[in-house]
Amino acid sequence: TDLKKLILDRVRDIPDYPRPGVVFKDISPLLADPVAFSAVVEELAGLCGGCDKVVGIEARGFILAAPVAYRERAGFVPVRKKGKLPAETLEAAYDLEYGSAVIEVHRDAFAAGDRVFIVDDVLATGGTVQATVELVRRAGASVVGAAVLMELSFLNGRERLEGVDLRSLVVV
Ligand code: IMP
Repeated sequence: TDLKKLILDRVRDIPDYPRPGVVFKDISPLLADPVAFSAVVEELAGLCGGCDKVVGIEARGFILAAPVAYRERAGFVPVRKKGKLPAETLEAAYDLEYGSAVIEVHRDAFAAGDRVFIVDDVLATGGTVQATVELVRRAGASVVGAAVLMELSFLNGRERLEGVDLRSLVVV
């Protein structure tokens, strides 16, 4: 579709970033394009379906999730790398290719039963979204869906997200 082309034409491959052998999808050109940025935000907002809160995952997830929340008159909740949130948090660890990482959310970020929509830029192994789903649920809210701009299908991240309604604007 037009939206897929709009996205694919504005995401560039950066070889050997952040490590040798990795090809990083850089969404900066898409964010800098007013037509593409607006089209992506509108599309993501249409998937949120009356959610109460939109969760953005640090850092590029913030850029997409905040305008989606504003557009839908939902609240915005940041999920951040460990040590960045000032108040009491819940944390979840997940595996990376080498070692592990910890992300956090404020304990009081959600009201009981909040309908939560999760947004990030790229789904790779799925570990980040999976850990975010766990945090939202442990915080007493309910995940109504998740969406990413781009899904890297060769990493099979979707398999880790059984039971989550995951939408990708583009699958590569
Ligand atoms: P995962 O946990 O392996 O699915 O990795 C997803 C997280 O890492 C997301 O928060 C992405 O922002 C980031 N990420 C992984 N690969 C890329 C990439 O190629 N481009 C941009 N972000 C990426």
